Amino acid sequence: FRRNLEVTRRLRDYIMKFSDYLSRNYGKDYVFKIMDFCGTHEWTIVHFGIRSLVPKNIELVAGPGCPVCVTPSYYIEQAIRLALDGVVIYTYGDTFRLPAITPVKGAKSLAEAKAMGADVRITHSLVHAIIDAKRHGKDSLFLGIGFETVAPGYAEALIKRLPPPNLKILSLVKLTPPAAFYSLDILREKPTDYPVMGVIAPGHVSTIIGGKAWTPIAENYGIPVVVAGFEPNDVLMAIAEILRQLVRDEVKVVIEYTRAVRWEGDVKAQSAIRTVFETVDSPWRGIGYIPKSGLALRDDYREYNGFEYFGIKDLTPETWRYDLPPGCKCAEVTLGKAKPTDCPLFMKQCTPDHPVGPCMVSMEGACAVWARFGGGG
Ligand code: SF4
Repeated sequence: FRRNLEVTRRLRDYIMKFSDYLSRNYGKDYVFKIMDFCGTHEWTIVHFGIRSLVPKNIELVAGPGCPVCVTPSYYIEQAIRLALDGVVIYTYGDTFRLPAITPVKGAKSLAEAKAMGADVRITHSLVHAIIDAKRHGKDSLFLGIGFETVAPGYAEALIKRLPPPNLKILSLVKLTPPAAFYSLDILREKPTDYPVMGVIAPGHVSTIIGGKAWTPIAENYGIPVVVAGFEPNDVLMAIAEILRQLVRDEVKVVIEYTRAVRWEGDVKAQSAIRTVFETVDSPWRGIGYIPKSGLALRDDYREYNGFEYFGIKDLTPETWRYDLPPGCKCAEVTLGKAKPTDCPLFMKQCTPDHPVGPCMVSMEGACAVWARFGGGG
């Protein structure tokens, strides 16, 4: 099913049929915007040329789907400062090259700090950092960046009290549904543009939070939501289902990714997250504070809190400052207001080898995906 060409053809036929029907009702120039909220969906769309497979009146828009892209520069600057002061920093690979807006002692990224002699270690999990930090015993900080998918792993490790005393965690976890709400609200404020008519909800995140987490989007905005997997036919199936609902005047959440996602989600993981974290208003890079969009460690777990141990003052709505470089449209790209190619720096000053803004660094960043695979038709 997932890459079967016959299935692809049939799904394309359905999409054509539904879009013809909708064009006759809405007018031939009407554009049906469908938004995805996951960097991996954007990768699938671009990598497999799905934009070139759907008719012109269907516009696929990338939304906030990259946690690295939206991590405020301030936290990267704090990590660089600690690294240059001798603290071992554990980071995922895509955060390693993330450019900060203000250089710290000449370093604009953790990669540059490492080149200057700092001990920055790329890791793929908190557990790996725990094992490594136990071995060397030096003061260490794990940068806990990610969406809901990483939170259960962090929570389980802390519930079991696994980190050694020398390893602290900077919880920078972001939550996707509040960002989806925020982004849809912003797009709704542009009355001259076409509204978002459907949402492809993230598959990985939904394995944790469940299909039901997207019900408020369907109800409040009156648009179909399909939780989709990451193969090309998964995404085509999601598009076909959204159009089918529009044709039938239906509005509901449908789980296409049934091989991994349940309506209730992973209840055990949700409970672990609630035990360790509290939901807080959180700053998004270039965007500002989004209500209830982040996870902070509860007091019961303060012994692991990197903010407290290393004396890092957390940002507040008063201290947060716009933190994208001049000309970078990463915030607009993240919110679905602009395409990567709308940025004047795209593939000129800003390239995967020399990223200017954060959306060009991670493989989940829309600019990086468009740069590598040519914009997706
Ligand atoms: Fe920012 Fe670079 Fe993307 Fe432009 S191309 S929006 S500078 S990340």
